[in-house]
Amino acid sequence: MAIYYNSDGKLQEFNEWSNVVKCSNCGKPYKQDCEEQVPGFRDMDYDVCPYCDHVNKSSMSEEYFNQPMTDDEIAEYYKTHF
Ligand SMILES: [Zn+2]
Repeated sequence: MAIYYNSDGKLQEFNEWSNVVKCSNCGKPYKQDCEEQVPGFRDMDYDVCPYCDHVNKSSMSEEYFNQPMTDDEIAEYYKTHF
């Protein structure tokens, strides 16, 4: 279970996925896990959209693990969050 901000800026619990972010280029939501990079082995990591390869973020301290959502998951996401 994770906590996220809904479109009203309120904190809500999100049961199925650790985090869902929306691509600023194609606007599609995708699943994301963030992990802190190991100190001393930090490298630039990019938050890349799994659909259109757009780089939404980059970080020297966090690593991004992105996963596309299925059409069903996206439909469910929009149904429950918008
Ligand atoms: Zn995209």
